[in-house]
Amino acid sequence: MLQKFGNGSTKMTLKGSYQPISPGKRRKRWKQFCWKLVHNALPTKDNLVKRKIEVNLMCAFCGEKETSDHLFLNSEITKRLGEARADQNQTWLNLVAIALDIWIHKNNIIFRNEKE
Ligand SMILES: [Zn+2]
Repeated sequence: MLQKFGNGSTKMTLKGSYQPISPGKRRKRWKQFCWKLVHNALPTKDNLVKRKIEVNLMCAFCGEKETSDHLFLNSEITKRLGEARADQNQTWLNLVAIALDIWIHKNNIIFRNEKE
């Protein structure tokens, strides 16, 4: 989206309400995501059901039951992202980055109606 300001300047922004975040907030978000990933505390659909929240258990990408293992280890999108990044070092940081990409992409499909 191209946003115009009163002084005549323009700024390119991402669609919807998504706005860039500061490095401090980004670092905090990474820490929270890492902690939740390691402790299986992300609100995956199977975890929501464990918390007595009624949701459709279908994975947003393939229709199988969404669990952390499925989403971050066994799904087709994980395999595709892993292949796309095969030339990069497989450090824990890259693996967390892949998991975060999957998580954000999944949420964009569900909450922003983006296409896979
Ligand atoms: Zn899936």
